[in-house]
Amino acid sequence: MALAQAAAEEARAAGEVPVGAVLVRGDEVIAKGFNHPIGAHDPSAHAEMIALRAAAQAVENYRLPGCELYVTLEPCLMCAGAIMHARIARVVFGARDPKTGACGSVVDAFANPQLNHHTTVTGGVLEAECGGALKSFFAERRRASREARAAARGEAHVVAGGEAQPDGHAGARGEAQVEARLDAHVGASSEAHIAADPAAGSEPGSAEPL
Ligand SMILES: [Zn+2]
Repeated sequence: MALAQAAAEEARAAGEVPVGAVLVRGDEVIAKGFNHPIGAHDPSAHAEMIALRAAAQAVENYRLPGCELYVTLEPCLMCAGAIMHARIARVVFGARDPKTGACGSVVDAFANPQLNHHTTVTGGVLEAECGGALKSFFAERRRASREARAAARGEAHVVAGGEAQPDGHAGARGEAQVEARLDAHVGASSEAHIAADPAAGSEPGSAEPL
């Protein structure tokens, strides 16, 4: 899980929601992946999907029996489906995701014997640490967003000449749109719930789809 946490930090460095995954077979690390759907323009570029693809390429087999997937956030339905297709033996995840989690938080895809014959799931491993990385990411993003909006308002006031006013407003709107897009990309995952930040829902313009 420590390796998955390190992969999550790669996502953070790329400006993406910090989720990381590692695929192992026995003591051997076969592949790693970090979440980067925004940079890749790819809604499927979740950490688990990246690790599964890389592992399948590495072993030249689309089935990965006997492998374990460690991921810092509870897999979503898409990833749960791919995990089943790959015949992963075991999934170990960190933080629970009350918005898109498909290992019991929203739905439990793995509990359905008609869908799943292969994968056991262990959740909540290093839950506080994995959730903390997400919490700090979203807190930082909210802070940056607040500062950008304040700066946009400030510029509009300073110029106050009429012509600058529309620019200020446009800037603020753009910020909100970017933020909304970011939220949509990560399934808004985790933000309000995992972060459990009481201020999360009350911030105007935070544009969280609830
Ligand atoms: Zn996913």
